[in-house]
Order: sequence, then C-alpha cells, then structure tokens
Amino acid sequence: MSLIVQKYGGSSVADLERIRMVASRIRRYFLEGHSVVVVVSAMGKTTDALLAMAQELHPLPPEREVDMLLATGEQVSVALLSIALFAQGVPSVSLTGGQAGIITTDTHTKARILRVQVERILRYLREGKVVIVAGFQGITEDGEITTLGRGGSDTTACALAAALQAEVCEIYTDVEGVFTADPRIVPKARKILRISYDEMSEMASLGAKVLQLRAVDFARLYRVRVHVRSTFSENEGTWVEEVENMEDVKVRAITHNLDVVKVVLLGVPDKPGVAALVLRTLVDCAVSLDMIIQSEGREGKKDIAFVIPREDKGKVHKALESLQKMLPLEGVTFDEGVGKVSVVGAGVANDPRIAFRMFDTLARLGVNIDMISTSNLRISCLIPRDRVAESVSALHETFIEDSEVMLREGS
Ligand code: ADP
Ligand code: ASP
Ligand code: MG
Repeated sequence: MSLIVQKYGGSSVADLERIRMVASRIRRYFLEGHSVVVVVSAMGKTTDALLAMAQELHPLPPEREVDMLLATGEQVSVALLSIALFAQGVPSVSLTGGQAGIITTDTHTKARILRVQVERILRYLREGKVVIVAGFQGITEDGEITTLGRGGSDTTACALAAALQAEVCEIYTDVEGVFTADPRIVPKARKILRISYDEMSEMASLGAKVLQLRAVDFARLYRVRVHVRSTFSENEGTWVEEVENMEDVKVRAITHNLDVVKVVLLGVPDKPGVAALVLRTLVDCAVSLDMIIQSEGREGKKDIAFVIPREDKGKVHKALESLQKMLPLEGVTFDEGVGKVSVVGAGVANDPRIAFRMFDTLARLGVNIDMISTSNLRISCLIPRDRVAESVSALHETFIEDSEVMLREGS
C-alpha cells in the first residue's frame, strides 16, 4: 500500500466537529492500508488572533517571540486531531515540526526548510501509526523554533511528501481545487483539472492563497504530485503536475492580491549605486519586492517605486528610516490603497494581444493602471484596491468565459 501525505488547512479543522470529520477521513485511508502522514494548520483564524495579540503589545514584536507564539497554534490542532483519531480507534502520534525533523534556516517568521530528517516519522509508520505533524513550523540547528511564512503548512506537506517519496500530497482546503480565479470573488470561476508546476507557482506568487509558493517550488523540484481538493466533498480536485504541450495554453487564470503596499522613495540622488543601496537595505530585512520602477531623472534626482507584501510594511518602514541616514531623500510614501491583478498563463507575455486586451478591459471599466510588470508567465497591473474585485471579474470574462464561447463556436 502507498504512502500518502494529507494536509488540512485551518478552516478544515476550525472546530471539534470538523476535527472529527477529518479524523474519519484519515481513518478510511488508514483502514484501506495506506501509510498516512498528516499535516495540520492551526484551527480557523488562530494564527491571525495570536499575531494580533503580539502586535497589540508592540507594533514590531521580536520575530523570535512571534515564532514561539505562532507555533503554538499548530501544536493545539495536531494534539486534538490525534485525540480524535484515538477516539475512533486509530493509533496515531502528533509531532511538532522540530520533532518531525524539519530543519530550517534561522530567518524567523520566514524560515526556509533546509532538510527533513524522516527517521522518526518512518519509525512511527512502521509501528502502524498515523503520524500527525504540525504544519508551518520547524527548528534550527540550534534548537530554535521557527515558522515558514503565512500559509506555510502547504510547504511542510510538500517537503514531507518529497522527503518520504510519497505517492501523492493531498492538500485539503475549503474550495474544490484551484480555480480560474478566486471562486469567492468570481462565482463563474471554473475548477482547473490539471495545472503545471510553473503556472501554479506563478499563481501562488501573485496572491492565489490556495497553495503557498514555496510548497509549489518543493513539489516541482522533487516532482511531487499535488492534489488540491475539498475537505467537505469527495470530488476530484486539481492535479498540480508536469504538463506537456503548454504552448497552446494562453490565459489560465486571473489572480489578485490585496495584501500589497506601494512604496515610493521621492527625490533619490540620480547617480550610480543608489538603486543597489536601496535594494540592499530591503534584502537585508528579507522582503520580497515586485514591480520596481524608476522615474526619469530631473535635476539630479529621481523617484524609485516598488511593491511589498503588506505584512512587511513595518519592517520596511524601519529599514528605510535607517537608509535615510545614509542617503538624502525628499520623502517616503506608503500607499495601502492599491491591489494587484494579474493574468497568468504559459507564454502570455509573448503575445502582445493579451496585454492589449488586459489594458483595454481595465480601460473600459475606467480603472487607472498605476504600475505594470510582466514575466514569461504573467502580466500584472497595480490598480486602486477598491476596483480589484470588479477588475478580476471583468478580466475573467474577457479571457476565460469569452474564450470558452469562442472555442465552442469554433468546434
Ligand atoms: P487553507 O486554510 O485550507 O490553507 P487558504 O485560505 O490558505 O486555505 O486557501 C484557500 C483559499 O484560497 C480559498 O478559500 C480561496 O478563497 C483562495 N483562493 C484564491 N485564489 C484561488 C484560486 N485561483 N483557486 C482556488 N482558491 C483560491
Ligand atoms: N496557520 C498558518 C497560517 O495561518 C499556516 C497555514 O495555515 O498554513 O498562516
Ligand atoms: Mg493556506
């Protein structure tokens, strides 16, 4: 029988009733004879609640302590799930990330998995137990508890599936799979049956929360087959795997991200080395950047603008304050009233008609595009935050719904 890894997200274990339901599903696989390793997130919105408490005490709490705090969320849910399995007569054992052998870097709140020591998990599996691992957390070589960034339980699951060479990594969540847009915003969004690692990676990096970006990277690197599906139904979900013949695919999905902030450095000296100095400052605080643009120089000065994740705003603010001591700036602004919409698909940026149709769709809505960025797999626009939902719907209509009509008419 095969070894499978199953990951249950926060909403799947939000209360005791749901934990019982999850335990029953695991029991079924166990009774079929599979070896089952389960990864669980914290219950419901626990992580948000813990973080809010920390931030009430201090707006920039020490990251080591944040990790200590957040890791408790997953520890609660693994223990409860193990007890629920015990109640259903299934032998199981719960483990923290550290106990499960997940060794990470020491970048608190955004640690990366360095390796997984699977001996202990394998021993429990040989003893006939279901192994339940706390998602989103690991331990450094020095025994410090770390977390893997929001949504990190997906990464725990894919890393374990890779290390254990599992047959499949099942990601159980509150939607039926990966859709052509967030189904909560676009009711007409359709489930994608198969998607390539590359496209999924792009969607994840552009805000489709359904899988964490690092999880997709692990899956791609170790060729883990990922099945994203619903905890609340038996339906087949989305397979993330190697997909051949992507050339004929155009727009695969529309994604959006509301958790972004636009930062502008005004009146930066227009001379060599300045952009590098700015970037250096941001890299040092482990911030991921997007859409970096520089304005034309004027009177020896220019502006530099970029987009950061909302959760990094406090850190970036602090880092730029110290930058201002080295570099004379006219000012720094943070704009939270923005959001990013993207069209994703293999080769979209190679076809100028796609960019035209994207800009045209936004223009018809009267939505002003603030910044644009492209890669081989996507075109993204920064627009006003309060126009994001309608823009996603309109882009979905242009690229997904209308192209289906064309296909049907053409066939
Ligand atoms: P979990 O707690 O199970 O990890 P998440 O909230 O992290 O669940 O991710 C699932 C959510 O991702 C869905 O509820 C959905 O609103 C959102 N989502 C965003 N984009 C997509 C998409 N393209 N397909 C499916 N879900 C998406
Ligand atoms: N509980 C963590 C979070 O809310 C990790 C996860 O759910 O994957 O981000
Ligand atoms: Mg998640």
